[in-house]
Amino acid sequence: MVYTENYPVLDETEWKDYCQLSGIHSKETPSDWMKRIWDRLMDYKNRGRLAGSMKRYIIANKMKYLWEGDLGHAVGVNIAICYSCNKLVYSNIGCKYGICHFMDKHWSTNCIGNAYCDISFRDYIEFKNKLKSGLTNSFDEKQAIRRYELWTQNAIRRVKRAREIGRKIRAINIIAQKWLEYMYRPDGLCASELALHYQLLWAVCEEM
Ligand SMILES: [Zn+2]
Repeated sequence: MVYTENYPVLDETEWKDYCQLSGIHSKETPSDWMKRIWDRLMDYKNRGRLAGSMKRYIIANKMKYLWEGDLGHAVGVNIAICYSCNKLVYSNIGCKYGICHFMDKHWSTNCIGNAYCDISFRDYIEFKNKLKSGLTNSFDEKQAIRRYELWTQNAIRRVKRAREIGRKIRAINIIAQKWLEYMYRPDGLCASELALHYQLLWAVCEEM
């Protein structure tokens, strides 16, 4: 499969509006901000008008004024809205080199949605195999792989923490299914993935 993010071209009015979405007003709480922009944000999202990282989360901006009368400039703050779980995410770690580490942390630990991971297990293996056969992954593919791996970490944590027996049984079924998928891959075994899933099965079984 070919994986590329779509980058919609916004007209001038849309662009202005879009840029304003991330701005938290000076006396506004993060929840007020979220409430105020939510419908507009979802409208852009549902029409496929969000691009890049904005497709999955929006980072809040606050205006910073350096002197009196300064027109100000917007600075990103460590508050975001995640569209996978529709919740506000706060953090004390920032963003660097275009990657928001605090969103990575949120996705790998406490996001209860999974829309941020938009490739299937099959696609994931296909992309990983590209590397093994000497090809390279595109930037978008690399990001998709990263998000899939964050989702896996999150899922593993959830399975480990599941206390309720019904959930454990469901978890075991899912892991066993994945294990089978790895086991019967046409291009041979994937030892580390098999081992990981096997370990998981044990971890859950032992708790039961
Ligand atoms: Zn989330």
